[in-house]
Amino acid sequence: MLFNLLFMAQEDLFKKLIAHCKEYGYVFPSSEIYDGLSAVYDYGQYGVELKNNIKKYWWDSMVLLHENIVGIDSAIFMHPTIWKASGHVDAFNDPLIDNRDSKKRYRADVLIEEQLAKIEGKIEKEVEKAKGRFGESFDEAQFRATNGRVLESQGKWDALHNRFAEALNNADLAELKQIIEDQEIVCPISGTRNWTEVRQFNLMFSTDMGSTADGAMKIYLRPETAQGIFVNYMNVQKSGRMKIPFGIAQIGKAFRNEIVARQFIFRMREFEQMELQFFVRPGTELEWFEKWKELRIKWHQALGFGTENYRFHVHEKLAHYANAAVDIEYRFPFGFKEVEGIHSRTDYDLSQHQKFSGKKIQYFDPELNESYVPFVVETSIGVDRMFLQIISAAYHEEVVEDSNGQKDTRVVLRLPAPIAPVKLAVMPLIKKDGLPEKAREIIDELKFDFNCQYDEKDSIGKRYRRQDAIGTPFCVTVDHDTAADNTVTIRYRDTMLQERVEISKLRDIILNEVSFRKLFSQLK
Ligand code: ATP
Repeated sequence: MLFNLLFMAQEDLFKKLIAHCKEYGYVFPSSEIYDGLSAVYDYGQYGVELKNNIKKYWWDSMVLLHENIVGIDSAIFMHPTIWKASGHVDAFNDPLIDNRDSKKRYRADVLIEEQLAKIEGKIEKEVEKAKGRFGESFDEAQFRATNGRVLESQGKWDALHNRFAEALNNADLAELKQIIEDQEIVCPISGTRNWTEVRQFNLMFSTDMGSTADGAMKIYLRPETAQGIFVNYMNVQKSGRMKIPFGIAQIGKAFRNEIVARQFIFRMREFEQMELQFFVRPGTELEWFEKWKELRIKWHQALGFGTENYRFHVHEKLAHYANAAVDIEYRFPFGFKEVEGIHSRTDYDLSQHQKFSGKKIQYFDPELNESYVPFVVETSIGVDRMFLQIISAAYHEEVVEDSNGQKDTRVVLRLPAPIAPVKLAVMPLIKKDGLPEKAREIIDELKFDFNCQYDEKDSIGKRYRRQDAIGTPFCVTVDHDTAADNTVTIRYRDTMLQERVEISKLRDIILNEVSFRKLFSQLK
């Protein structure tokens, strides 16, 4: 019951978050005046700033901080044979299943994953209950190893997990259906178990290139940015005189005709990826895989949303190109879900392109005095999913007291200052006596370094709330003393504390908080 209530509360919170994103110019449904387009979204005036800052955090952490990583920007349209070589034409499929009563479509693997998560939820509930009962003296590891109910659930989880992994690895669609039946999984809409067979569905969008019907060529909208990197491997290696190990980073749009597109911007049909392909000597790839795992989780955790909210999830099924794969998962309001994938892709992609293009794609290693096809470790993260992770971690509703002792709810986005869309708002206390001009003067000085906003409408309290709601870390108020002593009040978003400071100190105070240095220094 408690779990359900908690779950309900989280669901409720998620709905509020979506409404907040729309109300405050973060995310809008695409084509909204035409009733929207499923699983496609537009970013508003603050959303685009946050998105750009996320991309900068990622890009600079790769390209600035590593001498041996460079970036590229390849085209979305590519030669169709690329997708044949990469395996996407034949194997970029998801298993789909329909419920005959609700007519709703699901991913069979996701239905089973949700069943696994339910069992996991039961175990966590037992652990939480026991934690409360035993208090300080609670030994969690021992409890998990000995408690009867936990062991029973763990046994069920293991059995289901093994069966599921085997079915996925064998691409056994009948077995996936059988698991759904044996587990008595019902459609959340109709509540029935009236399922169709499981079928494979290719996720790539295609279109035609060329002006005449006969001359047109079927091309695909890329479902990942990675292939644009692989086909440019030789160009970059030669023109940049790159020595292995080295990496190529890219940020760009990707498109997938997702079977079920739910949960807001978590799963979209048009989205953006930030991918690194790191080329290494054969035989060293698993060492690099471990290094990148550590580095990437640090990158997430540096944002300060609590290390306990991240975990690694080892894949049940390895993709056809991988010899190791792990996801970084974050505890979203709807449970732990993937934000980033890290894959050891072997030499699969480069070898395939070598074979299909007939061009040599190899590296001459001067230390070994031999040529080889490099192995690849990939880190791949969705910008939009990262956006959702950040915004759901940052969203807080707090009960606060105003100056008259009245209780009020404040909605605040506790965004890390370096990625907040607006860094400071400058507000004249009133709209006369030269205060607006003074406020503008401050902005005119600081706008070269920070995204600033001017706001003179409504009471100061209301203006603070508006800035809290978009996550602005600093508010600066200009009052009648400002002209006399060149000081202003700076108010901090998270603590709501206010301080009197000299105008000449503002730049340093703010820079100290919003600089990416703060994040980067944690990535060593
Ligand atoms: P999933 O299992 O959730 O479908 P995936 O394992 O297919 O994801 P990858 O191909 O590894 O995902 O893609 C790398 C990253 O790209 C994911 O970790 C995610 O952040 C992002 N991503 C993938 N598909 C989508 C999508 N439809 N919408 C938004 N982001 C996505």
